[in-house]
Amino acid sequence: MEIRYLLRQIMPFVHFHAPNATPAATDLCLVIQADRLLALVRTDVPDAISFPDFVSLEGWANVSGPSLHVGLIDGRPLWLYSVDKPEVTPPAGWQWQETRALLSAFSATQSHAISCARQLLWWDRRHRFCGVCGTPTEPAIEERARRCPRCTAVFFPSVSPAVIMAVTRGNEILLAHNRNFRPGMFSVLAGFLDPGEAHSAKG
Ligand SMILES: [Zn+2]
Repeated sequence: MEIRYLLRQIMPFVHFHAPNATPAATDLCLVIQADRLLALVRTDVPDAISFPDFVSLEGWANVSGPSLHVGLIDGRPLWLYSVDKPEVTPPAGWQWQETRALLSAFSATQSHAISCARQLLWWDRRHRFCGVCGTPTEPAIEERARRCPRCTAVFFPSVSPAVIMAVTRGNEILLAHNRNFRPGMFSVLAGFLDPGEAHSAKG
């Protein structure tokens, strides 16, 4: 049995490259506009968040653009759509929600899927042109990559090593406030690794 088919049976979300797939009516959509996510927060079930399927979005013109097949969530294909316009009225029954505000409400499966989708979107948007010769790139068929049709350079989604740490003193914890954070928001310390830096530390 292929590993991807085994994974889809045991994992709620699995990244799955399916270059020849086409959306079906019951497939799920992650619709992202900047930091906002089109979602339905169900007030009848505490902390329950739903993503729309294509049936829910029927007639909503904003999902007509290019999309990425992200993977499978609970066995259902998941697609990513990016809405470029800042102000787009959501379809009836759905709302724009800021993803960070919903972090604690997402299930582990939803968080995994959103994290993967946003990384793919970030990569896809930043590799539209070849970094070697400037030619527009094209999605590769056989793997998750973008390829230059002129010089054959290949650009894969990048993985950036990072560290995150909790510095504590007794019952206290050291938190940081970035000037880009909203007021009152703090986080533990984190950062990306530079080339040549080791990920281990001796305390
Ligand atoms: Zn090129």
